[in-house]
Amino acid sequence: MSSVAANIAAIIKHIDKEPGREGLRETPNRYAKFIEEFTSPPAFTPTTFASEGYNEMIVQDNIAFYSLCEHHLLPFFGTGTVAYIPNERIIGLSKLARTLEHHSRRLQNQERITEQVAEYLQDILKPKGVGVVLSARHLCMEMRGVSKPNVCTTTSTLRGIFKTNPRTRGEFLNLKKGLR
Ligand code: ZN
Repeated sequence: MSSVAANIAAIIKHIDKEPGREGLRETPNRYAKFIEEFTSPPAFTPTTFASEGYNEMIVQDNIAFYSLCEHHLLPFFGTGTVAYIPNERIIGLSKLARTLEHHSRRLQNQERITEQVAEYLQDILKPKGVGVVLSARHLCMEMRGVSKPNVCTTTSTLRGIFKTNPRTRGEFLNLKKGLR
């Protein structure tokens, strides 16, 4: 048994009256496998291409993501909208979702994922601007603490002309609204 599995076994023993029963026998190993897999998202190469003069907004909406809150080790999950206006490079479309996945699958908080995704795209693409909006449900808010089910937490960050140009900012935020 790995040390992770052994520790999960200790937790189960602490919270369950019958920790030796059949249904729980493999649980420590299953959980250890899950947490190992979850926090090791597949590596990806952020392939970029010449933008060939395309200089309008590229938006991907409704990208599902799953993460673990670093304060409670409980899941938070939801959807993201990622947009940018290219400068000289564009990124393969599937890579926007990959970027969000890559930054979500570790111990996190929602604000940091939002910033890291924007920062990553900024670094790789040097675009004219980037916008990232995440909306998520946090089980640490729903199952414990304030116990408020179905509350959606939204975080956003705008970089470059998404921040400085009111028209671009408006276009992005309206597009986001329209897509709902
Ligand atoms: Zn939490």
